[in-house]
Amino acid sequence: MFLPRLVIDASGHRPVFVRRPPKADVAMQAAYGLVGRFSRPPVRPQQMVLMDFRSDHLSPAERQAPPTFLYAMDLGDDVYFVEETSLAYYPAISYEVLQRRLQQRLAYRGIEVTDVQHVEHCLFPAELAAALPWDQPVMGYGGAASLVHPASGYQVGAALRYAPEVAQAICQALSLPGRRPSDVAQAAWGTLWPTDRIRRRNIYLFGLAALLRFDDAQTQRFFAAFFDLPLSHWSGYLSNSLSTNELLRAMLDLFWQASGSVRWSLVASVRGGERLLWHALRGQPV
Ligand SMILES: Cc1cc2nc3c(=O)[nH]c(=O)nc-3n(C[C@H](O)[C@H](O)[C@H](O)COP(=O)(O)OP(=O)(O)OC[C@H]3O[C@@H](n4cnc5c(N)ncnc54)[C@H](O)[C@@H]3O)c2cc1C
Repeated sequence: MFLPRLVIDASGHRPVFVRRPPKADVAMQAAYGLVGRFSRPPVRPQQMVLMDFRSDHLSPAERQAPPTFLYAMDLGDDVYFVEETSLAYYPAISYEVLQRRLQQRLAYRGIEVTDVQHVEHCLFPAELAAALPWDQPVMGYGGAASLVHPASGYQVGAALRYAPEVAQAICQALSLPGRRPSDVAQAAWGTLWPTDRIRRRNIYLFGLAALLRFDDAQTQRFFAAFFDLPLSHWSGYLSNSLSTNELLRAMLDLFWQASGSVRWSLVASVRGGERLLWHALRGQPV
């Protein structure tokens, strides 16, 4: 009879086998995008735009709603991808709202869509709790292992980056005699989610909780200060490639560079986020 020595669940954000503590009010990343041709370039040719949070195309009333941003790039041959994105919000921003906002944004800049080649809908959780490594008989990977970066929604890069070290841990655990599948899974979970990575994730979750409280103007001021940080800091923050010390340093720099009202909002969010900060310090999953 075939006995599996390890089961790896890579079935996505709603895993089939990996157990995760239930979490209410999960903030979702939602986006509505188009690939197509336009009456004039929606972004500068050969460029990509990561987050255009400008909201001058919205009425004052519309700016009261949760902020969304443009993610766009030149795909070549006069074809562009434009996507209106809500970084994270509970409940998820609807596709209808995102589509309307994208149309408003383009119309405000005098840009018409002349040819639609593909419509993209995107919806996934931005802040799932880290799966608890120590009591899972099954190993998870990707969305099933909560690898989504809470501050950006990116997951694929991290999944590729961590794969070799996790594979090595699995090989090593399998090479030892008498290891049960749950022992192997535990070794793999421990490698994927070491204390320091859990700590950084909790710091990101804390940052996300602060961001979710910002209104449109605060969001714009926050990101103006964020993208004023040295490139290595903001790109390292978004790609989760900073050490814990570097991450804290970047966050402190951001705090001092931010305007008074953003700084005040960040201070206020500490009051609501004591639990997250406590978990961050201890490196425990939330
Ligand atoms: C439109 C869009 C754009 C995105 N852009 C980005 C981006 O730029 N960068 C980024 O990092 N992330 C992006 N994401 C998020 C990213 O796609 C997900 O985080 C990623 O796909 C999760 O990978 P995964 O392998 O864990 O799960 P999935 O990619 O969801 O793969 C899970 C697989 O398991 C299969 N499966 C599920 N249940 C079962 C079952 N019971 N039996 C057998 N098979 C099963 C599914 O069919 C699927 O093939 C985007 C998502 C969307 C929707």
